[in-house]
Amino acid sequence: MDFALSDEQQQLFDTIAAFARDVVEPGAGERDREGRFDRDVWDACAEVGLTGMCIGEEWGGMGGGCVDTGLALEALAYGGHDAGLGLSLGAHLVIGSKPIELQGTDEQKRRYLPKLASGEWIGAWGITEPDHGSDTSGITSKAVRDGDEWVLDGTKTFITNGPICDVFTVLVRTDVDGQRGMTAFILDRDTPGLTVGKVLDKSGNRSSPTSEMVMVDVRVPDSQRLGAVGTAQWTIGFECFSWERTVMLGSAVGGMQRGLEDAIAYAKQREAFGKPIAHFQTIAHTLAEMKINLESARLMLRYGAWKKDQGLDHQIEASMAKAYIGQAALQNADSAIQIHGGWGYIKDFPVERAWRDAKLSTIGGGTTEIQKVIISRMLLA
Ligand SMILES: Cc1cc2nc3c(=O)[nH]c(=O)nc-3n(C[C@H](O)[C@H](O)[C@H](O)COP(=O)(O)OP(=O)(O)OC[C@H]3O[C@@H](n4cnc5c(N)ncnc54)[C@H](O)[C@@H]3O)c2cc1C
Repeated sequence: MDFALSDEQQQLFDTIAAFARDVVEPGAGERDREGRFDRDVWDACAEVGLTGMCIGEEWGGMGGGCVDTGLALEALAYGGHDAGLGLSLGAHLVIGSKPIELQGTDEQKRRYLPKLASGEWIGAWGITEPDHGSDTSGITSKAVRDGDEWVLDGTKTFITNGPICDVFTVLVRTDVDGQRGMTAFILDRDTPGLTVGKVLDKSGNRSSPTSEMVMVDVRVPDSQRLGAVGTAQWTIGFECFSWERTVMLGSAVGGMQRGLEDAIAYAKQREAFGKPIAHFQTIAHTLAEMKINLESARLMLRYGAWKKDQGLDHQIEASMAKAYIGQAALQNADSAIQIHGGWGYIKDFPVERAWRDAKLSTIGGGTTEIQKVIISRMLLA
């Protein structure tokens, strides 16, 4: 058993964290206030290989597995303090691009992956609908076959990168032979009938744009179908959730590390009743609890990611990591504000933003409640 990062992994973490401190952190507060995605920051991430982190080297990516990709997102969040960027990048990688690499035809991979890996194109993924989020089996967007073409109709919502994506992979209903099957399609941004609907004004992760994607008579050739007809909920949907839960939460872990360091620094220099507040046992113990949460979260995430990289069954570990990290990240962000007292509640301090950012970890990619449904089902099977 070896819990250590390899020299290469440590170097990956250090390099990305340093890059993030230099390039990402300086404008992070402003981007949050303005709710603005910054293409220049994205392009800088592309230059250091982040936009192709888990895409195969043959397509111009870095070929990273789950552990390495989670580590990269952790370093980006730790150094950059911009959870929205981590969300956009994570979605581009693990739900916007990975399904195409895993399920695409050679032609689809050749057409999409090099531009997604280089960051020239931004990927997005849509399963959620206004009336169906957790209950994905109820989605109503559909594709109907018409000769060698498909006609797609419906509205997807909460689409990370919706307003800025070039490639939108969507999962819709294609009931075939009485089976309530679903099928995925790759849609180019300029496909006639595909439009960005309402742009959502979020509480946190505000540098990542989120919107509806509306499909009205979207007509595409069968060559835009991703994977087999009627199976996408099991193949592509499962893979997306599995990558989300073992990789994307690296951002939350990096945010927790940064929040703890910020809280320690503040507790050492802020004085009350004639001494640094770090000397009060309640504050010191809060820091200890934050550290316990952080290291537990990191271990759970890396264990799930490691099992996935090894090709081992990791579904329960992925859901446990998602359920635990969501709550732990929120708890730590709350504690960081508490340690900052009134100043923690003021927008001048990054800990205020971190709480709004952390809340998403209990919702996106399957809520905490849904993770408990999955875990308990597996326990009771
Ligand atoms: C910022 C952001 C980005 C997102 N990005 C994407 C994206 O890129 N692509 C995409 O497709 N989706 C995306 N989502 C959607 C996200 O996955 C859903 O919001 C999430 O799955 C929950 O669905 P819902 O919002 O419809 O809540 P609902 O499903 O309506 O749930 C409401 C509440 O009921 C609870 N609940 C529901 N069913 C059960 C049950 N069986 N047992 C116990 N409790 C239950 C939930 O846990 C929750 O507390 C994003 C969401 C957000 C907020």
